[in-house]
Amino acid sequence: MALAEFDLIQRYFVLRTPQHPFTRLGVGDDCALLNLPPDAQLAVTTDTMVENVHFFADADPYLLGHKLLAVNLSDLAAMGAEPFAVTLALTLPKVDESWLEAFADGFIGLAQWYDVDLIGGDTTSGPLSLTVQAMGAVPRGKALLRSGAKAGDLIFVSGQVGNAGLGLKIKQGFACAEPELPLRCFNRPVPRIAEGLVLRELAHACIDISDGLAADLGHILAQSQVGACLVWERLPLSAQVGQYIEQTGDWQMPLTAGDDYELCFTVPAERVPQLPAGCHYIGMIEADPGLRLQRAGNIEAFEATGFEHFS
Ligand code: ADP
Ligand code: MG
Repeated sequence: MALAEFDLIQRYFVLRTPQHPFTRLGVGDDCALLNLPPDAQLAVTTDTMVENVHFFADADPYLLGHKLLAVNLSDLAAMGAEPFAVTLALTLPKVDESWLEAFADGFIGLAQWYDVDLIGGDTTSGPLSLTVQAMGAVPRGKALLRSGAKAGDLIFVSGQVGNAGLGLKIKQGFACAEPELPLRCFNRPVPRIAEGLVLRELAHACIDISDGLAADLGHILAQSQVGACLVWERLPLSAQVGQYIEQTGDWQMPLTAGDDYELCFTVPAERVPQLPAGCHYIGMIEADPGLRLQRAGNIEAFEATGFEHFS
């Protein structure tokens, strides 16, 4: 990395990054060094956003910075991990200072909110591509896995589903009378960190909804070797999503649209009173494999299809 680029990274990112007590050495050497408490496990995740695949060239850099970090922190939330550090690999077609400053505002703003330290990264030239690796700490053996669901567990979701999906439709031209909420959910997802930390003690299995509720719940079912029945009428929908379904008949959207970044988790009935506020019961884990949907009194198999990059 050239000196001028290093100066920009320093100015816009590093100097505004919160210091975390686990960071022994951050940006500036060949590696960062982390001190983890002896009883902690390291949870690590990475996500990339590529121009023209995950966003378009004219995307607002502030929102990109926010979303790139948010989707990574959401994976830590789904494990019940407490985020503390990230690395950032930037591939940029050119050094555009105002773009970089706005991107940093979105990225570092969220990092500051969750006390997450930017401890290193890489800066290269090429087609625009943004990669984050996020690290969190979880007490040994306490991480929330996809594989722990048991027949008889109740299925919950940490907030509404379908808002981000509607936000995308609005961006594609759908006319919505009150677009603020769906657009905010699409542009600025909130990682459910605090909920994940509470659920760590309560849930049997957990996942964050990035590819759509049905597809992501499907991962819990497959890895836990169980099935489920969702109750459509129980899905927590905003008024806007309700109106969208009334107008279009597209009742599957809240089950199949991605990008909500709510947590979907399973919990034994006796722990339900301890759940964080805002969680909604949406169905049951059953021994019989597969996903079923109860809707208007009928129960039918539901074929889940999420977004896949190579299909
Ligand atoms: P090296 O060639 O040893 O990999 P670099 O010159 O690429 O080192 O980077 C110098 C320092 O700046 C390293 O500590 C690296 O982690 C950090 N760094 C480079 N790019 C970024 C970035 N986009 N965000 C955060 N830190 C970065
Ligand atoms: Mg390097």
